[in-house]
Amino acid sequence: MELYSGYINKLIEELSALPGIGSKSAQRLAFHLINMPQDRVERLAKTIVEAKANVRYCRECFTLTDKDVCPVCANRNRNHKMIMVVENARDLAAYEKTGRYEGVYHVLHGAISPMLGIGPGDIKLKELIERLRGDVEEVIIATNSSLEGETTAMYISKMIKPTGIRVTRIASGVPVGGDLEYIDEVTLLRALEGRVEL
Ligand code: ZN
Repeated sequence: MELYSGYINKLIEELSALPGIGSKSAQRLAFHLINMPQDRVERLAKTIVEAKANVRYCRECFTLTDKDVCPVCANRNRNHKMIMVVENARDLAAYEKTGRYEGVYHVLHGAISPMLGIGPGDIKLKELIERLRGDVEEVIIATNSSLEGETTAMYISKMIKPTGIRVTRIASGVPVGGDLEYIDEVTLLRALEGRVEL
């Protein structure tokens, strides 16, 4: 027996496929959406479709942008010889919020995780190597301090070492397993300033 309309079941199914949304949350959201005014639902749907259609990867650092090259990479006042490697665009935003980092970034879109079957080929590592052919003086590895983040840091460090480019790792003190985006700016700056040679 179908408890709800098939339309609602479909909506719940789609919502519960999103990360971090369990079946209870999906049900709550579905009913909330159904009770919303028509124009707000349409605006939400349009916003999702437009974001998907217009947001892409920056040609240089692979962060999300609606331009060919993101504002950080397009800024000639930034130090393009210093590349900070982060796991995702949210980590980039966290460092940008400190307003004190003058280099550029490289967004991996994930971390190596043998357990989840995510290998080096599944994140933007090839693209990082490609960038290192240019004029680069330092690569700062700012992946999370989780097992995956550390595995990725180790991999990148081994990969870059033979090139002679300076490789550093942000200082620990960033809580273990903590997502960078939840860490306050002072802690981030301390981690950046206290970075160590690998
Ligand atoms: Zn960029």
